[in-house]
Amino acid sequence: MKVKTRKTWRNVARNQVADPLRIYWPESLDDVIEIIREAEDKGLQVRAVGSGHSWSDVCLTTGYLLRPEKLNKVLPLDPVLLRDGVDTSTLFQVESGIRIRALNDALWKNGLSIINMGGYDMQTIVGAFSTSTHGSGITLGPIADSIESIDIVSDGGKVYRIERSDGITDRTAYEAQYPDRTLVQEDDWFNAVAVSMGCMGVIYSVILRAMPQYYLNEIRTLSTWEQVKKDLRQGDVFTENRHYEVLINPYKVRGEHRCLITTRNRTEKPSGLPLDKVKRRFFAECMASIPRLYKVLNLIFDELPNLAPRIINMALRGIVDDGFANRNYKVLNIGVANEIPAYSSEIGFPLEDDLYIKAVGRILEIAERNRRQGHLYHTSPISLRFIKGTDIFLSPQYGGDTCMVEIFFVRGTQGVFEMMYEYEVESYAYSGRPHWGQVNYLTGSHDLVRSMYPKYDAWIEIYQKLNKNGTFDSPFSKRVGFVEHTFTPA
Ligand SMILES: Cc1cc2nc3c(=O)[nH]c(=O)nc-3n(C[C@H](O)[C@H](O)[C@H](O)COP(=O)(O)OP(=O)(O)OC[C@H]3O[C@@H](n4cnc5c(N)ncnc54)[C@H](O)[C@@H]3O)c2cc1C
Repeated sequence: MKVKTRKTWRNVARNQVADPLRIYWPESLDDVIEIIREAEDKGLQVRAVGSGHSWSDVCLTTGYLLRPEKLNKVLPLDPVLLRDGVDTSTLFQVESGIRIRALNDALWKNGLSIINMGGYDMQTIVGAFSTSTHGSGITLGPIADSIESIDIVSDGGKVYRIERSDGITDRTAYEAQYPDRTLVQEDDWFNAVAVSMGCMGVIYSVILRAMPQYYLNEIRTLSTWEQVKKDLRQGDVFTENRHYEVLINPYKVRGEHRCLITTRNRTEKPSGLPLDKVKRRFFAECMASIPRLYKVLNLIFDELPNLAPRIINMALRGIVDDGFANRNYKVLNIGVANEIPAYSSEIGFPLEDDLYIKAVGRILEIAERNRRQGHLYHTSPISLRFIKGTDIFLSPQYGGDTCMVEIFFVRGTQGVFEMMYEYEVESYAYSGRPHWGQVNYLTGSHDLVRSMYPKYDAWIEIYQKLNKNGTFDSPFSKRVGFVEHTFTPA
């Protein structure tokens, strides 16, 4: 197994840096067990990372950091281990480090597709669902909802298989084959571990629920925030579309916040369509792929900030599209826009009582105030995605349908973190819950995280069982208050 000592690790956005004692590249379940046991013997911490696409500090550690590149295989599903009557035709088992892109290819080759995903595919499957990564669709929960079974190595190097109470594994068969492992089929355990940000152990593999292959057609049209609010309150946009998303210009131009609406719906396999209907808008893709274009944009924003509202309007117009049909995962991936160096924060608001519409109104007010008072500008539109509520305890989508509001800034935007901080703090009044993997300022003080999540204590109970020795503690888990701070003066 490859290992390096005191080698610097950086996330993809390069705003998070760690100098762990060791970086390991485990190649098997046994490697993971061995690393955790050794760390515990030495009183060190362990943290698995995915592809490092989180902007927050969720991956940092001073102890052993586990990289996923060698744990990226599709595993054969063992039907002997599954309960009678379980539909195995859409189950798929993979090691934790497989990237969503490779997973999608493997699923397609097997006649299957991922049920839903975010706008990008370079994350690992486990890294993605561990922070509750989501796509859009009011009938579709976060990626973690499509997980059926989790094999995790936890305290003392013990291996647990964790599933919902009606889980897919047959206990007798499992215990006969793996007498030294523990099968837990309890909703509380599953709902705690499914979004646990690396704090409960190292996930070795998962079995996920996929669906038969499908195609999507994407349409992008212009609207205004006034019109969009009416459509959202009326509600048909949710039921008529598998995916409905909104991009809003934070600034008014000629009295209106321009919006771009994206809908995606299932379609037949495209055949005989012209090239521009099976690919994203060529011009927009080319622009986004120009290296360092963001620097040019930043220069323009810095020198002529009052052009920002119009530049954002132009960008929205540039991606209007009357049809783009392809395999589901090609349409769900928003394309090379993902490669633009950027920082992002994202906050989930309940759909209930129009809290999300009120919250967006407040964000637009703050953006306008910053523009007038401080020459602080957004360099990108604000995104709204709508997601089905989930039972997973620390998912920002816990407990009800949620609007995730993403505030995205091109790297180098002046005042970016000050703006993100203000938006997040203001969002708490609208029951906002920040995305764990995006820039956030949550702390444990005043029981902030506990106050956001009704099942926080249930989560902590499982966390304390799986993290008895503090092996999976980290700067992140201390910041957000999972680790109790006690201070004894010398
Ligand atoms: C360009 C871009 C686009 C994005 N698009 C979206 C989007 O559309 N929707 C959305 O919700 N988010 C989105 N994000 C955020 C991103 O999906 C999340 O931050 C995600 O967690 C990153 O996955 P990763 O594989 O890089 O994991 P990392 O960032 O490396 O790790 C995330 C967490 O997973 C834990 N982890 C990783 N592997 C394991 C393991 N084997 N066992 C236990 N814990 C593990 C880590 O400890 C950490 O806590 C985007 C980010 C970027 C940079």
